[in-house]
Amino acid sequence: MPAPFTLFALPYAEDALAPVISANTIGFHYGKHHKAYVDNLNKLCAGTEFAALSLTEIIKKTAGQPDKAGIFNNSAQIWNHTFFWESLSPKGGGKPSGRIADLIDRDLGGYDAFKVEFANAAMTQFGSGWAWLVAEKGKLSIRKTGNAETPVSGSAAPLLTIDVWEHAYYLDYQNRRADFVGAVIEKLLNWDRANERLGA
Ligand code: MN
Repeated sequence: MPAPFTLFALPYAEDALAPVISANTIGFHYGKHHKAYVDNLNKLCAGTEFAALSLTEIIKKTAGQPDKAGIFNNSAQIWNHTFFWESLSPKGGGKPSGRIADLIDRDLGGYDAFKVEFANAAMTQFGSGWAWLVAEKGKLSIRKTGNAETPVSGSAAPLLTIDVWEHAYYLDYQNRRADFVGAVIEKLLNWDRANERLGA
C-alpha cells in the first residue's frame, strides 16, 4: 500500500502485554513513537517519487543513502515496529512448538541456547536498535541491527524481533534492559506468528 501510510492497528488491547510491557509504555511507544514515524514519513513522501511506492519498496530504495536518511529511518521504523507488535502475544513466550522448534534445535542448539543467544544479541546492541531471529536460505540465525536498520533491506527473512531502544523499556524497567528482554522472551514471543512467517 502506498502513501498515505496509516498506523498499524494493534492486534491486542494496550494493557494486554502487562505486566511485561505496561499500558503506559504502549501508550507512548505505539501511540507516540510509532505514530510519529508514520506522520513523519507521510510528510517526507508528499509530492515525491516515494509517494507511489510501498513501505518495503521505500526501505529498499533508500537503504544506505545518506541523503535519503530521513525517509529511510522513518519507513524502516514503521516496518520494524509493526513487525515488533506482531512478534508479541499476550499468550506468547515459553518453549515453541512446530517447525520453528525443530529449526531452533537443528540450527541454534535448542531452545535454551536460543534464549541465551537472542538475549545476548539484545544486550550487546550498543545504544538503540533491534534483535532479530531470521531465516536465510532456510537456516535460522540471530542478528542485531542499530537504530532503524532492518533485515528488510537485505536477503534474510525476519521471524521475530525485540525492540531494544530505551523507549521500549525505560518507563517499566529504567536501565534494566536485561530484565525487559528476559521477560519478553519468557512471556510474550509469538511463536505461532514465527511459524506462520516460516510458511509452516
Ligand atoms: Mn520502538
